[in-house]
Amino acid sequence: MLSIRSLVPAVSMLMLTLACSTGGSQRAGYPSPPRTRPEATGYRETSRYADVRNFLDSLRALGLPLTFGSIGRTTEGREIPYVIASRPAVATPADAKRLQRPVVYVQGNIHGGEVEGKDALLALVRDLAIATRPNALDSIILIAVPLYNADGNERVGPQSRNRTDQNGPELVGVRANAQNFDLNRDYVKADAPETRASLAMFNAWDPDVFVDLHTTNGSYHGYALTYSPSLNPAAVFGGLYARDSLLPVLRERMRSRHRREVFDYGNFLSDERAVPESTAKEGWATYDARPRFGTNYYGLRGRIAILAEAYSHDPLDRRIASTYEFVSEILSLVAERGASIRSLSERASGQPLAWGRAPDSLQMVAVRSELVLTPSTIDVIREAVEATGDSSVTEPGMKRGQRRTGRFTPVRMPVFDRFTSTLDRIPPAAYVVTPGDTAVVRLLRTHGIRVERSDSAWSARGEAFTIDSVITASRLFQARRETRVQGKWDRALQAFPAGSFIVSTAQPLGTLVVYLLEPESEDGLATWNFFGARLKKGEKFPVRKVLDLSRRGRSRPRRSSTVINTLPPRNE
Ligand SMILES: [Zn+2]
Repeated sequence: MLSIRSLVPAVSMLMLTLACSTGGSQRAGYPSPPRTRPEATGYRETSRYADVRNFLDSLRALGLPLTFGSIGRTTEGREIPYVIASRPAVATPADAKRLQRPVVYVQGNIHGGEVEGKDALLALVRDLAIATRPNALDSIILIAVPLYNADGNERVGPQSRNRTDQNGPELVGVRANAQNFDLNRDYVKADAPETRASLAMFNAWDPDVFVDLHTTNGSYHGYALTYSPSLNPAAVFGGLYARDSLLPVLRERMRSRHRREVFDYGNFLSDERAVPESTAKEGWATYDARPRFGTNYYGLRGRIAILAEAYSHDPLDRRIASTYEFVSEILSLVAERGASIRSLSERASGQPLAWGRAPDSLQMVAVRSELVLTPSTIDVIREAVEATGDSSVTEPGMKRGQRRTGRFTPVRMPVFDRFTSTLDRIPPAAYVVTPGDTAVVRLLRTHGIRVERSDSAWSARGEAFTIDSVITASRLFQARRETRVQGKWDRALQAFPAGSFIVSTAQPLGTLVVYLLEPESEDGLATWNFFGARLKKGEKFPVRKVLDLSRRGRSRPRRSSTVINTLPPRNE
């Protein structure tokens, strides 16, 4: 069985060797760095919540340049720990700003049964922090959240029940949080306390890069790990940069430095229930562009996001090693490109600000999308699986009567790895939300969006949306009824009552404002039914547009509509 120690990068390995050979004290000065639960059990077990806490406490006792804290509490009241690693140490967002370095936020265990991200991340933080030679921590700020879905992690049960397609460990947690929400469908509606805690971290630290660690389900392929950038077409900054400039380099480095093949996340079309409408019989297709998924969401904030999915049919030691290496290569590459990544973040935040000043700078925002059906045709590695001739289980995660062959064959096939816009909207100067829609306003603020309130009635040139059709799902999904609205915007003078909420698009999260508030968005607030029964054919959509905020109040000169900036985004 492979050991993580034979696979960690050279610097850390040297360190560990020295630590062992000298009795562990002189050179590094850290007598006994903690071991993760898998390291201590021969990779038979993954960390439970208490193991993670104990591991972090042991790291803290070493006096390393690390900052420990909690992003918030889970549904069942567990603190969700974070550790910030940087040399020099960083304790607050203001410290981070002063260092002028890229901030990378890496999250493990969003799905409680997908365990190796948590264990790899703990080991990586330890190895980087105790290393005496320079490494990524001298050039970046790493925020590690190893155990995001802590409640799901604690609902342990047999892998054969909780993670049917996964090669161990024997006991793993469950996918959902304690409210039975899939946290990786919750990034728009933010119903879970875990989601609200992570949004508060995003708002406070504004990470340049977000990495979300998972394990695959499904296809037998030849990759130790598959990855995805933010797939949403509105993610015009970080999405494209990750896809075209970061991930190809990471792929090459995983091959040349670690001898591992990695590839764009996807599944073979033959394994998918919903095959894209193309003539392709064989092909490889990615998943979804909607921001309910964390890495897609993060792209709408104008930042880089990377989804990492270790191969579920690899045993735990190998999955930990692949994830460890991939994340460590991400950190190194971000460290090398610190200046350009920070400037990309600045441009992404600056673009919507320009919308308010210069209408020519307006850029359409994609609010609906579809898979691009003109794929590239390239080699994808398949793993052959064969029948055993009986009903035995050959290894954990394999169906009865099947076994892996270890035969990997490249097969040329179409690869569907990107989405294109099917509906674009021009950002107005602002959206106006009715005084009664406080749940909408609360959610926008949870996302870090600035919302103002008008203290008097006013009118302005704008647009209202007349609803032509409303389709509401008959079944609940994630405790809500998904809704699709269609209709038409019409321009006219709009009168707004006192107490209306004004959501300017000229703010760093302007793209997200458009995406969440456009009625026809494929994953906006209308989709998640924030407007309830008011959405009816023939009625007006409760959110209207204002085309020019500078004229606001002119119709009522005596009571110029002073705007009070209400509370800052809630951190909960
Ligand atoms: Zn997952």
